[in-house]
Amino acid sequence: MDLKKRVDELYNLLEKYNYEYYVLDNPSVSDAEYDRLMQELTLIENEHPELKSNISPTQRVGGQVQDEFKKISHKRMMLSLANAFNEDDLYDFDRKVKEVTGLTNPAYMAELKIDGLGMSLVYHKKLLYAVTRGDGNVGEDVTSNVITIHSIPLQINTDKDFEIRGEVYMPKKSLLELNKQRKENNEPLFANARNAAAGSIRNLDSSVAASRKLEAFWYYFVNASEFNIRYHSDALNYCDKLGFRTNKERRLCHGIEEVISYIKEYTLKRNQLDYDIDGIVIKVDDMSLYDKLGYTAKTPRWAIAYKFPPEEVVTKLKDIIFTVGRTGKITPNAVLEPVRVAGSLVQRATLHNEDFIKEKELMINDYVYLRKAGDIIPEVVRADLNRRDGTQIPFKMIDECPVCHGPLTKIDAMHFCLNENCEAKHIEGIIHFASRNAMDIDGMGEKVVEQFFNQGFFHSIDEIYDLYMYRQDVINLDGWQQKSIDNLLNAIEKSKSNSLERLLFGLGIKEVGAKMAKTLASKFISLDALMNASEEELLEINDVGPIVAHSICTYFKNEKNLQMIEKLRQKGLNFKYLGSTSIASNSFFSGKTCVLTGALSSMSRSEATRILEDLGAKVTTSVTRSTDLVIAGTDAGSKLDKAHQLNIEVIDENTFMELIK
Ligand code: NAD
Repeated sequence: MDLKKRVDELYNLLEKYNYEYYVLDNPSVSDAEYDRLMQELTLIENEHPELKSNISPTQRVGGQVQDEFKKISHKRMMLSLANAFNEDDLYDFDRKVKEVTGLTNPAYMAELKIDGLGMSLVYHKKLLYAVTRGDGNVGEDVTSNVITIHSIPLQINTDKDFEIRGEVYMPKKSLLELNKQRKENNEPLFANARNAAAGSIRNLDSSVAASRKLEAFWYYFVNASEFNIRYHSDALNYCDKLGFRTNKERRLCHGIEEVISYIKEYTLKRNQLDYDIDGIVIKVDDMSLYDKLGYTAKTPRWAIAYKFPPEEVVTKLKDIIFTVGRTGKITPNAVLEPVRVAGSLVQRATLHNEDFIKEKELMINDYVYLRKAGDIIPEVVRADLNRRDGTQIPFKMIDECPVCHGPLTKIDAMHFCLNENCEAKHIEGIIHFASRNAMDIDGMGEKVVEQFFNQGFFHSIDEIYDLYMYRQDVINLDGWQQKSIDNLLNAIEKSKSNSLERLLFGLGIKEVGAKMAKTLASKFISLDALMNASEEELLEINDVGPIVAHSICTYFKNEKNLQMIEKLRQKGLNFKYLGSTSIASNSFFSGKTCVLTGALSSMSRSEATRILEDLGAKVTTSVTRSTDLVIAGTDAGSKLDKAHQLNIEVIDENTFMELIK
C-alpha cells in the first residue's frame, strides 16, 4: 500500500470527523472507529517518522473555535489525554512514570472519565469567565451558558486568583427527557450525552442551555502550587471546600495494580451511574513531578485515559433494505432483531455500501456482532460464521431504485439513483434544507416533511414557503392544532432572513458541507456572485479543490436549479452573507475597537459581543488608548473611569440598542 496516500486519507478523514464532532456536535462515526483511525495513523508515524508532520491530527488537540463566540486564550494550554486501550498500555505508562521519577510504586488518582465537554473557569473572587477547551490554546467564551448550571459557585471565598477545570455534562435522565421532547417536535435526536452537552453549551442563546439541565464535575485545580498544595488528591479535597462539585467515585491507588482493579470495578458499575463515562483517567498524584514527566504537543505525560472497549452484542440480521438519500445515494441498511446495546434499543444499522457488506461477507439471517462505542451510532462488526445453519441467504445488490424503479449508476463504491424526479430524493432534499445546520426550521423534521409531501402540500424546497396556503388543511390533520402550525409557519418565515451560508448548505450541492458553505458565503458575500463564479475563480479559494469547484459550477448551470433559486428569490429569501458584509462595513461600529463594561439589561455580554462583531467591530476586554468606544451598562466601574480619563467616547445601553437596531 502507498503509505503516503494512506496518511493523506487518514488526515482527511480525521479532520472531517473532528469537524463533525467538535464544531457541529454531530459525529457520523463512532468514537471507536475514530480511535481506530487515530491509532492507525500513530502507528504509521511511529514506524515512519518521515511521514509525520507538525500539522498531523496526532499532534493537535482536536477542538476548534467557532467565530460566533468571543475567543479567550488559556493562560496554560488545555491539553487532551493520551489513551490506553488495554492493560499493556497501562503497564507501559506505569513503567515510564517509574523510569522518569525513580519511584517504585507511584500513587495514582483514578477518576471516572466523564463524557462531556471540557471547561475552564477563571475566578477573581467571583467567576470571571468560563471557556471551552477549543484548540487547546484558545477557547470560546461560554460564560452566559455555563452560569445556568446552578452548582457552579459564582463567588469564592479566597483572595487568590485561580483557574479550575472540569467537565460539563448532561445527566442520562436529562438526555432521555430532551430526546423525548425532540422526538415529539420532530427534531433530530442527540446521538449521545456528550453531543447534547456540547450542543447546549455552544448555543448562542443561553436560554437553551438553561433549559437543558446540565451538570458539571471539576477535576483539576490549575493553581494548586500557589495554594501550597502538592498532591492532586488534596487539590480535589480543597476544591470540595471551595464549593466545587467534584466526583466522589475517585480513588487514590497505590500502584498500577490497584488502578486496574478500580477499572474492572467501574467497567461493571458504569451502567448504574446517572451520567455517561467513557473510561477512567489515571493521574500521578504528586503534582511536583509534573514538569519532570513533561508533555507532548497534545497530552501531559503524567496522566492517561483508559478507554472502555466498545460493548459488543450478538443479534440476528433479519433483512437488508435500501434507502435513497437526497443526492440519490443508495444505502443498504441492516434490519436487526431488536437488541439492547450500550443502554439503548437498536434495530437498524447502516451497512454503508455494497463493498462493506461484501468485505464482511454478511448474509441475511446471519448472527452478527453489533457494537456502539459509548454513543448511539451502531456498527455491524462481523458475522458469527459458526452459527450459520443453512438458512442464510446471500446478499445481492439491487440494480434499480427502490422508490422510482429507475436504473442505478455505480460511482466508486456507491450506487446512485440519478432520476431527477425520484420522490425519495425530493423528500430527503427538503428534510436536509430544513435541518438544524441548514435553514434550521424548527418543527420541520423528517416525519413532518414526509407527511406534508405525501399530502401534496409541497414537492420542492421553494414550495415550503407556500405552506401557509395549506394552513387549514394542516389543522384538519391528526396531531395538528392552530398553535403548532402557526409556530411552524413563523419558523418558516424566520428562516427567510438566514445568512447565506445556511441557504447554501441547505441547497444540498454535492461536496458543499456546512463548513464549505460558510467559506463560500464569506468569500462571495452574495449568492449571485457565487453563481457567476467560474471554476478558476472558485479554485483560488484555499479550501476549494477541483471536485468541489466542478460540482458548484455544474449545480448552477442546471436550468431546474436556477428556476428554483429564482423562486426562492421571489419568495423573499435573503441571498446575502450576514457575517461581515456590507452591513458590517457601513455600520456605526465598523472598524471600531469597542469595550463592554457593566451589566446590560437587554442581553448578555456575549450576545452583545457577537452583535458588535457582526457589525464589524473588534471587541476587547480592557480600555487602552486604542479603544474607540466604551459601551457602559449599569454599575460600570474602573473601565468607565479609564475611558473618561483617556477621553474615549462612551455610550449607554439605550444608545447602543438604538444603534444596533
Ligand atoms: P479524550 O476524550 O480522549 O480525553 C480528554 C478529555 O477527557 C479531557 O480534555 C477532558 O475534557 C475529559 N475528561 C473527562 N473526565 C476527566 C477527568 N476526570 N480528568 C481529566 N480529564 C477528563 O480526548 P479529546 O481530545 O477530548 O477527544 C478525543 C476523543 O473524542 C477521541 O478519542 C474520540 O473518542 C472522540 N472523538 C470522536 C469523534 C467522532 O467522530 N466520533 C471525533 C473526534 C473525537
